[in-house]
Amino acid sequence: MKRALITGITGQDGSYLAELLLEKGYEVYGLARAASWSQPNCASHLAGHVKILFGDLIEDLELAHVLNEAKPDEIYNLASQSRPGESWARAPETLEVNGLAAIKLFEAVRKHRPDARVYHASSSEMFGQSHSPRQDEETSFHPVNPYAAAKVYAHHMAAIYRDSYNLYITSGILFNHESERRPLHFLTQKVAYGAACAALGITDSPDLNERGRPIVEDGRLALGNLDTARDWGYAPDFVRAMWMILQQEKPTDFVIGTGKLHTLTELCEVAYQTVGCDWKKCVFSDPALVRPLEPGQILANPAKARELLGWSPTVSFEEMVGRMVQAQLTRLEKLS
Ligand code: NAP
Repeated sequence: MKRALITGITGQDGSYLAELLLEKGYEVYGLARAASWSQPNCASHLAGHVKILFGDLIEDLELAHVLNEAKPDEIYNLASQSRPGESWARAPETLEVNGLAAIKLFEAVRKHRPDARVYHASSSEMFGQSHSPRQDEETSFHPVNPYAAAKVYAHHMAAIYRDSYNLYITSGILFNHESERRPLHFLTQKVAYGAACAALGITDSPDLNERGRPIVEDGRLALGNLDTARDWGYAPDFVRAMWMILQQEKPTDFVIGTGKLHTLTELCEVAYQTVGCDWKKCVFSDPALVRPLEPGQILANPAKARELLGWSPTVSFEEMVGRMVQAQLTRLEKLS
């Protein structure tokens, strides 16, 4: 039986990946912060099926101990301060988790588990204000926030460790992927939530935004720049790609994305249409929510993944948004 270790198992991707690996017959270990595991989290339903090792990657975590306990054949390094917008306010912590902790993990693998295969979670945010209209594995990085800068650092170190020590370390440069498990402070989930509130006639929502105000206030949802466009895919499709990447004979990096661009306006249209509401009456653009420096056009060219992995997304943008809105409707109905 193969053994896998997932850092960040309590998150969106970690939980879907754990499900996938369990289905495939893996023994799954997860690294989690004790306080997070004791609260409801994305992987709570997997308690008893996965083995949890406790630790915080930016405190005195003994990674040698974690590797010796889990003895993983495959390691998926997903732990991250994963909110680019918030990384301005939490820049030092972001660098520690997204940058330095990754290097500590590569070093521990080199010393204690050199035969393990490592997947590292890089991000399309690294492309930032890209000079290319579409990005692939060869496109250069122009990060525009602390999150992306820290990811660039770890991405380069992953390649340096791979080449210097002949380790099996790969990075997946994943474009945005969403799901019913996205926390409420992420854009797509806010829109799904806003649409569900509109459908249920909720004008002041029970859940609060990052400014401590109702996410929907006076019947309206505040968003940033509505022209922002992203390549949005469905998270379970993307964790399948992570696993496929580690099954390749030789370690090599992959861009994973749908190759389709949608604006925030389109996202609102689809979400509110799902519940028969007019998004224009329910959403407005608040200048305070516009990022200091917005990334440019970030659109995947996933040709390498299609050709070498045989990977392609199975869930469309519209279907994904529909599922997210439905999940928020169910959740809000239970609360009332
Ligand atoms: P997520 O839901 O925010 O999960 C992040 C995970 O990292 C959580 O389990 C979190 O644990 C853990 N973590 C954070 N700080 C930690 C620390 N100091 N020690 C140990 N664990 C820590 O993120 P996600 O969406 O699943 O993303 C997974 C990875 O893919 C991340 O590296 C993210 O940057 C990257 N990525 C995501 C996307 C996307 O669109 N989702 C796109 C590109 C790349 P707690 O529960 O304790 O906070």
